[in-house]
Amino acid sequence: MKTIKKINQTNLRGKSVLIRADFNVPMIGKEISSDFRLKASMETIKYCIKEKAKIIIMSHLGRPKSKKSNLSLYPIYLYLKKYFDKNNVIFSEDCISKKSINISKNLNPKEIHLLENLRFHSGELNNSDTFAFKLSQHAEIYVNDAFGTSHRSHASNSSILNFFKKKCFGFLMDKELNYLTNIKLNKKFGVILGGAKVSTKLGMINHFLDKADSIFIGGGMSFTFLKSMNKKIGNSLFEKKMLGIAKEILEKSINTKTKIFLPEDFVCAKEISSSSNIEEKSINNFAQDDIGLDIGSKTIDLFLNEIKSLEKIIWNGPMGVFEIDLYKNGTAKLAETISQLSSINNLTSIVGGGDTASAIIELGLSSNFKHVSTGGGASLKLLSGEKLELIQSWGGND
Ligand code: AMP
Repeated sequence: MKTIKKINQTNLRGKSVLIRADFNVPMIGKEISSDFRLKASMETIKYCIKEKAKIIIMSHLGRPKSKKSNLSLYPIYLYLKKYFDKNNVIFSEDCISKKSINISKNLNPKEIHLLENLRFHSGELNNSDTFAFKLSQHAEIYVNDAFGTSHRSHASNSSILNFFKKKCFGFLMDKELNYLTNIKLNKKFGVILGGAKVSTKLGMINHFLDKADSIFIGGGMSFTFLKSMNKKIGNSLFEKKMLGIAKEILEKSINTKTKIFLPEDFVCAKEISSSSNIEEKSINNFAQDDIGLDIGSKTIDLFLNEIKSLEKIIWNGPMGVFEIDLYKNGTAKLAETISQLSSINNLTSIVGGGDTASAIIELGLSSNFKHVSTGGGASLKLLSGEKLELIQSWGGND
């Protein structure tokens, strides 16, 4: 695997570089609501500027049904204009038009040309060669820095490889792969899992069972485990199809080095709403109409006591419905403590992308964590011990 630093610097100078970035940021209307992914992409762009390359950037945003959708990258163009020299940033309204390719061909060193949403063309998702060829006309060197899409093969990260001799990964891709693959298990090590479904985290459980010292299961997924132990979970979320598997995992864990921690109490309401009356309840006292929406204070203490003795943590999935203030305490308390322990270097903390990353960023705690991934699906795959085919198939180059 080759990173951009290894492309001979004289080869970068004055050359045009097409960066596949992941600018798929959360938007509220036309406003960027979190610039986490944009900031994470800056190292590669800044490096290209320093090396006096001509920079063309492409990305998708959301899942547009047509060009008329409001998923334009124009707000990101405005962001880049603020971040860099505003006179050096250009935007094209179509990523493969003759006009946009001409702009790329006439760029000056250090100028940035942002292309409109790749998914405005169906060729992107179809991994079309024709579309990829047109994209390749923008530049001489291709850089893939879009970790968030690396579990999918699309034209801008897959077919496009056929049209470049010089291709490499950017700094973000390199960092993500380093942190999320070949995780060393030499330290006292725990895995925190949460979120809605057992099925999406099953790969991680299987991968870390008998490797981790502890696995903490919170969030909605914990109810499938608790129900498999015949606990009364009221109206809480659970996956019927996964009950047998959950029971098997708990039984299997007895003969492994891994201790599985399940919640003992929850913040309950009768409906999922920001104005519900809430009550903390032991799992042994659930009424039929109770819905567990966050882990309770006893569980927070139980989890944190153990977490404090660990040297490494991998975290994927919130402890409750953190999007609503009433149910974010469990996720916030864990995040605060892990952040503190990480800042004094007692703990190496790695967070998978998606909801957990969003929660930690929203809490303003991401900087103390060793690594917060920008990719949800891609990080989940790697943390489940699977390979990313796209990355495997990379030839790199000289
Ligand atoms: P996942 O994509 O599986 O990580 O799930 C994330 C989602 O799980 C978030 O949107 C949370 O609101 C949701 N979630 C977490 N805990 C619960 C719970 N106890 N009940 C219902 N949904 C939950």
